[in-house]
Amino acid sequence: MSAPLVYVDFDDVLCETAHAFLDVVEREFGRRYAFEDIHFFDLEKSFHLNQEEYDYLMGLIHDPDILRIMAPMPGVLDVLADWDRRGIRPVVVTGRPPETEPVCHEWLERHGVPYDRILFVDKYGRAPSHQVGAEVVVPQYLTDMGFALAVEDAPAMIEFLIRETDIPLAVLDRPWNRSLNLSGTHGQVVRCEDWLAVAEALNARVLCSA
Ligand SMILES: [Mg+2]
Repeated sequence: MSAPLVYVDFDDVLCETAHAFLDVVEREFGRRYAFEDIHFFDLEKSFHLNQEEYDYLMGLIHDPDILRIMAPMPGVLDVLADWDRRGIRPVVVTGRPPETEPVCHEWLERHGVPYDRILFVDKYGRAPSHQVGAEVVVPQYLTDMGFALAVEDAPAMIEFLIRETDIPLAVLDRPWNRSLNLSGTHGQVVRCEDWLAVAEALNARVLCSA
């Protein structure tokens, strides 16, 4: 039996993106927010930013110097090392701009993350066609890759995957996805407190399809 193919999101799934943003917002705008205050995936709303502040923050958060120092999520490296021993190398799926490709690979390699490849999802078809190296795909591309599990935190991607696919979904519990209504998804979705729960979700999927 070949190893199951797993989709793993980058921000706030592999690394602690929101915590890094909280530090940036404090440093740049002098306002300290708590992680639990991030009720909206839209940072403009969560951090009460005006348009100018938002544009400035968006420029900063794709800065390689900030992406480089983000901490791995608790427990993720142990789970991925275990998957690697079982021949499972996840596909990293991210909404980051393709220009961040070098620092994405650098971060994964620095933390010893075993992974297959990175897919940059271009939600709006806006990625520059001249981008060299980065593998840019539209969301629809993800629907028939045969993923055994997808690990996501972003409400828009979770809703897309529920609407368009039957891919089993591990939703990593975050303040900004708690208002999502996951009832009525007929067992497709499991909300996971942490990476230990994600590991259990994959084991359950693999066992029941074996
Ligand atoms: Mg994410």
